[in-house]
Amino acid sequence: HSKFKGKNTFTLYEDRMEEKLSQHLLIEKHLRFALNHDEFELFYQPQIETQSLKVIGVEALIRWNSKDLGFVPPDMFISIAEESGQILAIGDWVIQAAIKQLLAWQNTDLANLQIAINISAQQLEQKNLADKLHEALQTAKLPSHLLEVELTERSIMSNAQSNIELFNDIRARGLSLSVDDFGTGYSSLSYLKRFPLNILKVDKSFVDGLPGDEDDVSISRSIIQLAHSLKMKVVAEGVETLEQFEFLREHECDMVQGYFFSKPINAQQFEAWYAQHHDNIIPPKALHEPIK
Ligand code: C2E
Ligand code: MG
Ligand code: MG
Ligand code: MG
Repeated sequence: HSKFKGKNTFTLYEDRMEEKLSQHLLIEKHLRFALNHDEFELFYQPQIETQSLKVIGVEALIRWNSKDLGFVPPDMFISIAEESGQILAIGDWVIQAAIKQLLAWQNTDLANLQIAINISAQQLEQKNLADKLHEALQTAKLPSHLLEVELTERSIMSNAQSNIELFNDIRARGLSLSVDDFGTGYSSLSYLKRFPLNILKVDKSFVDGLPGDEDDVSISRSIIQLAHSLKMKVVAEGVETLEQFEFLREHECDMVQGYFFSKPINAQQFEAWYAQHHDNIIPPKALHEPIK
């Protein structure tokens, strides 16, 4: 049994096994319908360089507005799609949708923005992932550096050995690679060193306690140092306050994203947000240190 909460949002309210199972099957069934009926959309959240205060890219986050279930959040359906294998088709849709968006922005002020897409562990096992990404970019005549691939720490560390080759292939084709939710999985430092990664993303759970919580301060600083000593950049996710932003800027975190700047919004809303905000992300007077 499902119910609709608030603004037509699909929720689970039963913990019982059979209820969970039927929810699972219901979502799986409607996911099949979703792909063929254009029910997915990409939303975009700006990524901002802390020193220049420039918007340098966006993270693309999938949204599903189901005809029958209402809005279903990705945390609820991505894992089901992973278990059923539907993530492969959804992942292909995400790649194509991101390429279309990059193309649409090419003759506008947004032409230089990178789009980061989230890729599931199962997609890494597709032998042709590097070619697929590269061909999609080539067909659209887009430079590869405009597309960035986000992989969770967990997914890069399982099958680490075979991922080295894949990541080298992806990088050789000019795309960049980020590690999402860094700090929540179990990283092998020897693999972290050998993977050709561009960016570590500090998980929101460590950003939450900044700047007051000593543990979060230590962890965030350590991740920033680790990334820099491995010649990687750092993005902090889930930045919700000016204080968090100031802390991260002063501690040389390279980029930030979070509700403080913008929630993920659809393409049209993002274009309006960009036009209005890209020149004044934060009033300069609000900052302790001048913009470099
Ligand atoms: P993620 O990739 O770590 O994305 C960050 C999540 O944090 C997003 O949730 C985003 O909306 C949210 N977020 C960003 N800033 C803030 C903030 O300041 N405060 C709070 N409270 N939340 C913030 P979302 O969009 O619900 O996505 C959840 C997860 O679902 C993503 O985590 C990612 O793992 C997965 N996901 C989303 N889109 C895709 C996709 O296209 N493909 C795959 N494979 N997974 C996706
Ligand atoms: Mg992500
Ligand atoms: Mg994340
Ligand atoms: Mg996450």
